[in-house]
Amino acid sequence: MNIEIIGTRPHFTFHWPMGIEEYSSVIEVTVPDSGYFQVSKLYIAYGYREAFGSLRRRILVFRNEGDVLAEFVGVDCWEQDKRVATFLRRDGSKQYLRPADSVPSRYKAFSVIHSRSVITGPYAPQCLAAVIAEADLPSLVAVAIAREQGETFRMAQTPPKVKSNTKDASMPPTTSHNRGRDIVQALLDYRSKQKTGGPFAKSKDADEFLRQNPFAFLMAASIDRGALAEAVWEIPFLLKKKLGHLNPQLLSQMSVDQLEEALRSLERKPRFPRQSARTMLSLSKLVFEQFHENVASIWQGREPLRVVQILERIWGIGPGIAHMIVRILIDEFGYNPGREGLSQIDVKPDIHVVRIFYRTGLILERSGSACVEAARQLYPKFPGVLDWPAWEIGRTWCHDHNPECVDCPLYSVCSRIGT
Ligand code: SF4
Repeated sequence: MNIEIIGTRPHFTFHWPMGIEEYSSVIEVTVPDSGYFQVSKLYIAYGYREAFGSLRRRILVFRNEGDVLAEFVGVDCWEQDKRVATFLRRDGSKQYLRPADSVPSRYKAFSVIHSRSVITGPYAPQCLAAVIAEADLPSLVAVAIAREQGETFRMAQTPPKVKSNTKDASMPPTTSHNRGRDIVQALLDYRSKQKTGGPFAKSKDADEFLRQNPFAFLMAASIDRGALAEAVWEIPFLLKKKLGHLNPQLLSQMSVDQLEEALRSLERKPRFPRQSARTMLSLSKLVFEQFHENVASIWQGREPLRVVQILERIWGIGPGIAHMIVRILIDEFGYNPGREGLSQIDVKPDIHVVRIFYRTGLILERSGSACVEAARQLYPKFPGVLDWPAWEIGRTWCHDHNPECVDCPLYSVCSRIGT
């Protein structure tokens, strides 16, 4: 694989959802992309971490912090040979490839061996692993991309199917499939009573601005995390008033510091102004450099999974927000992905949606992945359509404390677990 090194940084802090990690260096590279971009940018971060009973070399390959393609760990004899390994997973699954499994063809060019032959110690898995010299950047990148292809394989190839007459693993034993269907129907009924998903923003001017300006819409949706939704969706309008424009080219020329300062001066601010500034800059660069300011060309003529992949290249955007954006594009911006396309769109399992799925009895544990899987099984033709009604009911009636069950649209079908 041909890659080009375009920069290095001596220190780097990686923000995981569960904490932060320090890396001694990060290398920025471009690689050829067979998709819609001429090239795509990846990062290779080098550090150390306790793993399997000792301090080991750790390497990450990622597009952005929400999009890690592969993690590598130093082998037992790393001090001598500087090799690292990444554990390989089955297609579309979190399960590792077992030593007896055949090696998928995309890994055939690499050294794939039993992981225990190079990594031992407490909790070391027994699976297949690709082993690479850590200085071999093209191979590190190529393995990482192969892993990414494997993990998206199932979603891309086989839309979710309904299981008939079988119990869902994601459902409590007390929740029958009929009960699940009733809850889904109640969510759909609630949604059908709304003309759309409701206003984006409280202020009429800000709302109209978002509807007329898809770039402003993408900006608001991209930073919709951790703050009151109505406040976040006002920000593009307020920022335009502050800067005198909302132009992707001009924005992409600003520094993170400048944009953060502008955000902090607004009457409504994102909860994390610096992270939001980074997301906005990344979005602006994507729209200006890759799509020549034609924002709609990000989704027009593409299937939803490709749109999700493009959106996930924006710093800070993970699958939840990306799927939510695609669903809103259908509701509000005339995007028509066809029947097959609808089946590819998942719910965004935010706190309100997970709470609704859990309390109604659709899932056994408060987990985002269980929520996504339950929606796929219960409404496979368009799982993402359950997102907005669950979110709206969650924040309106199903409060964390003292839910207003009697007035809730789901009262007659809800199991009210844990209330
Ligand atoms: S009935 Fe109560 S517990 Fe169930 S979704 Fe509504 S508010 Fe939540």
